Amino acid sequence: MSLWGAHTVLQNLLEGSVMTMNRIQFQPGLSMPEFFKRYGSESQCATALELARWPDGFACPRCGGGAHCVLRGGTHKVFQCNACRHQTSLIAGTLFQGTKLALTVWFLAIYLISQAKTGLSALALKRHLGVSYPTAWLIHHKLMQAMAQREGLYTLGGQVQVDDAYLGGERAGGKAGRGSENKVPFVAAISLSDDGHPLRAKLTPVTGFTLKSVALWAKGHLAPGSTVVSDGLACFSAVTDAGCAHQVTVVAGRKPQDLPEFQWVNTVLGNLKTSLSGSYHAFNFRKYAARYLAAFAYRFNRRFHLESLHERLLVAAVHCGPQPQRSIRLAEVHC
Ligand SMILES: [Zn+2]
Repeated sequence: MSLWGAHTVLQNLLEGSVMTMNRIQFQPGLSMPEFFKRYGSESQCATALELARWPDGFACPRCGGGAHCVLRGGTHKVFQCNACRHQTSLIAGTLFQGTKLALTVWFLAIYLISQAKTGLSALALKRHLGVSYPTAWLIHHKLMQAMAQREGLYTLGGQVQVDDAYLGGERAGGKAGRGSENKVPFVAAISLSDDGHPLRAKLTPVTGFTLKSVALWAKGHLAPGSTVVSDGLACFSAVTDAGCAHQVTVVAGRKPQDLPEFQWVNTVLGNLKTSLSGSYHAFNFRKYAARYLAAFAYRFNRRFHLESLHERLLVAAVHCGPQPQRSIRLAEVHC
């Protein structure tokens, strides 16, 4: 963590957010013995998966019908719709489609990723799961993709702090100076409650800090009518194209992290920096920045739900559709 990051955290503690921090850090979570009690066998995982996929009972993916019979034979349960005779396996159409791994391995990965406070590297996952590095990498990226798709469902609204930031190089997650080469620029945005507490974060790569890319970003990620607070960087005025109001706080000689207007966006960037430097080895920033950033935001946005995070991630995985290796390795599309 940089000095300014430590300073910001200290400042937050002094300013009375210590209770909020404790609420996050002292959550019970799900203990490992409890995890293995619930998800230690293949049949327990299959039951949990079925429940996450069809909480109200089976619904045919083709016709929506509920009446069905269950065929056995393969690795996973196969459901046959009574109305249209369509057959679907438990994992078909989900993130797990086509996997040769046991569900217990996937569930352990979901558990480890959801409970690790600052994220988990593919290398750590490889060691914990006892799989090859390429397999661990793919599991990790598929689950991050599920998180990213979930995050894509939400827009930020109300009061929103925004800042420009860069990913890549030695100063990942921090401000590396505007216009630096070889960095991935991204917009860091935090929505606040009426009493000034952070609600949701969004960290989105952009092609650059131009009026055009910020307008495109705002249309995709902000609810019309939001009030955006930024420093004096000219491109942020383009949020008005998305029907948002724009308030500029000119920093003028003071560091942005010293201003209350940017307290939360700076805290989140500081946490991101800690997370990336502690958990991940250098990765292809250009290609995978969006997925890493969205996975970080996913975790941040569910920071009060540690105990149920593995269930939430399982639901995200069953609804995000199949993720073949080829699409996981494709470059991300930026704003
Ligand atoms: Zn059907």
